[in-house]
Amino acid sequence: MLARVGTLETSNGVFETPILFPVHNAGSRNDGNSPEYWKEIPEMKTMMLNAHFIKNDSIYQRLLKKGLHNYFKMDGLFFVDSGGLQSRVYNFEINPIEILRVQEDIGTNIASTLDIPILPEDSITQNQHAEYIKKSVENALNCLKNKEREDMKLYAAIHGNNIKVLLNTIDYLNKRGDFDGFAVGGLVAKRSNFRQLVDTVLAVRKHVGEKQLHVFGLGGPSIIPLLTYLGVDSFDSSSFLTAGSNRIYYMPEKGSIKFKEMQGVSMLPCVCPVCSKNSFDDVRSQRKLIALHNLWTITYELRRLKLGIMEGNLEPYLEKRFEYNPLIKNAYKYAKTRMRGFA
Ligand SMILES: [Zn+2]
Repeated sequence: MLARVGTLETSNGVFETPILFPVHNAGSRNDGNSPEYWKEIPEMKTMMLNAHFIKNDSIYQRLLKKGLHNYFKMDGLFFVDSGGLQSRVYNFEINPIEILRVQEDIGTNIASTLDIPILPEDSITQNQHAEYIKKSVENALNCLKNKEREDMKLYAAIHGNNIKVLLNTIDYLNKRGDFDGFAVGGLVAKRSNFRQLVDTVLAVRKHVGEKQLHVFGLGGPSIIPLLTYLGVDSFDSSSFLTAGSNRIYYMPEKGSIKFKEMQGVSMLPCVCPVCSKNSFDDVRSQRKLIALHNLWTITYELRRLKLGIMEGNLEPYLEKRFEYNPLIKNAYKYAKTRMRGFA
């Protein structure tokens, strides 16, 4: 069994994994429009931010003055990503050490190195593919060498449209540096090809060894149980928020449903503080309430998964859990078969 309950020891305390970092869009829209979930949900004191967005916004000066923990009034765990994806998509250069300094100076607990993401349309046969991988590897080692804050964890960001390339990258980095963990990108595109997703995560988990494994950009209600089963320690996602905007409600222990599909229903199927204190119509009409409820559902899910791991009944729980989602159920069945080869 690869699924594990672990700990992340930081200067702000010890946090149990698997853990979700909800994406906060501070910097991209000034202070961002995320609800202050960390003030409502005691077990969700985690946040994922983007160093590139912060660096180019007025919030940067305020964060330099106060530090992330004081600014957001969150005594929890911050993860600051580099912004590599934006630089690749919008085609501009970012300096890896400048990004590292932003991550250090605003006081994040975890930082990932500047990556040059491989996009789904990139072919492994193109010269650029090798060039991007080489650059990401150089950036990672460069950041590790130049890291000044001892208490900040540094995860090497890795990419690759090909499992072998990914594994070679991990081995190369492991030989040359002692990273606190690895953060894999580019898996969002593999969401529609579950076999490929399962194969990739399983292979990466094995090569990363005991180190922390983070998956970028995947953290919806049904993918979290699957990734946890595959041994992933942390994930980040903005889907709770976009789901709120699209009026998508996470169903506890099921998946998600559009409000408009809940015909003839007037009672919410959840007892979280949001759904207990507000009416069906109030939740349906307020994006922030849906987002908050969605995070409560994920909090419950993570706890349920941890209990399953600790009590040794994760598999029976997942069998039941995926009943309503045939696609993920197939991925889970496939993962279960593949897992035997990894035992
Ligand atoms: Zn609820």
